[in-house]
Amino acid sequence: MLDFSIYMKALESTRDGLVITKTEGRNNIVVYVNPAYSKLTGYERAEVLGRDNRFLQGCATTQEEKKRMRIAIDNGEPLLITLQNYKKDGTPFWNELSLSPITNDQRIIEYYIGIQKDVTERVELNQKLIESNRTLELLNLSLKEQNKLDALTQLYNRTVLNDKAQLLFEIVQREQNFLSVFFIDIDKFKNINDLYGHKFGDAGIQSVAKAIKTLFKRPSDLAIRYGGEEFLVVTYGNTPEESQLLAEHLRKQIETTKISMNNQTLSLTLSIGLFCCIPESTQTLDSIIQQADLAMYAAKHNGRNQVQVALCDKLPK
Ligand code: GH3
Ligand code: MG
Ligand code: MG
Repeated sequence: MLDFSIYMKALESTRDGLVITKTEGRNNIVVYVNPAYSKLTGYERAEVLGRDNRFLQGCATTQEEKKRMRIAIDNGEPLLITLQNYKKDGTPFWNELSLSPITNDQRIIEYYIGIQKDVTERVELNQKLIESNRTLELLNLSLKEQNKLDALTQLYNRTVLNDKAQLLFEIVQREQNFLSVFFIDIDKFKNINDLYGHKFGDAGIQSVAKAIKTLFKRPSDLAIRYGGEEFLVVTYGNTPEESQLLAEHLRKQIETTKISMNNQTLSLTLSIGLFCCIPESTQTLDSIIQQADLAMYAAKHNGRNQVQVALCDKLPK
């Protein structure tokens, strides 16, 4: 057995804050603190002896932390917890507290010994890391969304055919509602490029994209730049009559919209193939797009600047 004074010296010189409390009912009264405790908390020994150890807690100490302490004490169990405490001058700090019960010969808890460390730096660094990870996650998410956008028109590009459009198709198929696919192609666009230049052509593509965006503005409408001068719009819940009206509206609007650049003005025309159906379980999105594409070719064949509608057999009774 070591001399008692050695135990005392060990307690007094340890670098972690030590507190010994005596159990009195539901209270834990401070009966000893070492110098490191005073250095950590700012409280001198004489100021804390006889007080309940809870005085280090404050408004930022959460109910969750308090509850965990209460449960461990009620069950006479040791506990390792990091909680927000306050120094004497009011400065908050993160206190890593290791609490152990000390029992007497009858196994009744008489005392607790608490070892406490200021881990503020570690906790704050951790919080910063979590925050920056969250920011990165958000950035990645928005980057992923941006990769789905076409740079010239800010419409979706065709990568969304595999996710957003497929999902929309599956919902409509499950709900047995109307799906409309508009296949939109600018007429004789190669000529426009050849005659007026590529920049003018780009402005034409942007003008069509803008009209599409303005017309198909329901949250469920999906407008895609499908290829160079080709667009695809997928809508949910429009009847064939409504979709045909929308397609006609778009066609007329483009026909009458003037595009100007460097004192030159022109208007474009569109050939639109519309396929509207209540998707059967055997149908795929691809097969429906193909039908709309065929209808668009029929429009070209018939002289361009028109809407051709294809309907599937299954229509509501
Ligand atoms: P049609 O009426 O049969 O559709 O004739 P078209 O000339 O529109 O058809 P074609 O497919 O032969 O030509 C499409 C042209 O679109 C060819 C290409 O130069 C042009 N194009 C494709 N992407 C872009 C683009 O991003 N900007 C510009 N300015 N032109 C593009
Ligand atoms: Mg084309
Ligand atoms: Mg074309």
